Amino acid sequence: MGREIENILDILNFYKVLGFKELPEVFLSSLLKGEKTQNTHSKDKLDKTLTALNEEIRICKKCILSKERTQAVCGEGNANAKLMFIGEAPGVDEDRQGRPFVGEAGNLLTSLIEKMGFKRQEVYITNTVKCHPPGNRDPLEEEVSLCFDYLKREIEIISPKVIITLGKVATYTLMGMKGKIKDIAISKIRGNVFLYKNIPVIPTFHPAYLLRNRKDKWLTWEDAQEALRRLK
Ligand code: SF4
Repeated sequence: MGREIENILDILNFYKVLGFKELPEVFLSSLLKGEKTQNTHSKDKLDKTLTALNEEIRICKKCILSKERTQAVCGEGNANAKLMFIGEAPGVDEDRQGRPFVGEAGNLLTSLIEKMGFKRQEVYITNTVKCHPPGNRDPLEEEVSLCFDYLKREIEIISPKVIITLGKVATYTLMGMKGKIKDIAISKIRGNVFLYKNIPVIPTFHPAYLLRNRKDKWLTWEDAQEALRRLK
């Protein structure tokens, strides 16, 4: 119990350092309700629930990203995964192939997963926004908020023990950050752990960033080790 209070104090301090005057609803509600995403269903049931969700995503036209996509890109991996990775949005390769994290950035993520001692199919990998933004631009706030319901449901189904967010879009979304606060660089946020529905979330760099800034790879490895410590 002592350790949990210490964790909560660390998180409160983290929000304060980031300039929050009030705590975001997503953190406050889970803290007050002691909310914990927990699934007690069989693997078969989870696979079916995930398939049904993915069917919904594939035909979704809630935002303008549906107009230019080749296809919506659903998450993939083990429905019972203990570790979940959340990226930003599908890139050009993902849009073409219909799978998250393929191409060079995908290979880098796969090698990180393997270095952590997992096979890619043992973890769960998804994106905050499921359709490719034209010109590889950042997804707009409106697109993120329209798509967030799918991510929330994925997290609920998978019920991971630890989440690693790759880059600022996934991190800000789970932290409930909006508006100007988005200007804070991911390099200022990583190295901290926060909670989403009482699941520890470890922010780190997006693999596409690491391809351009290879010197920061060791920081991502530090974040991965924090995830491993928490999984144990
Ligand atoms: S990005 Fe999300 S909300 Fe927008 S069309 Fe694709 S699946 Fe629907």
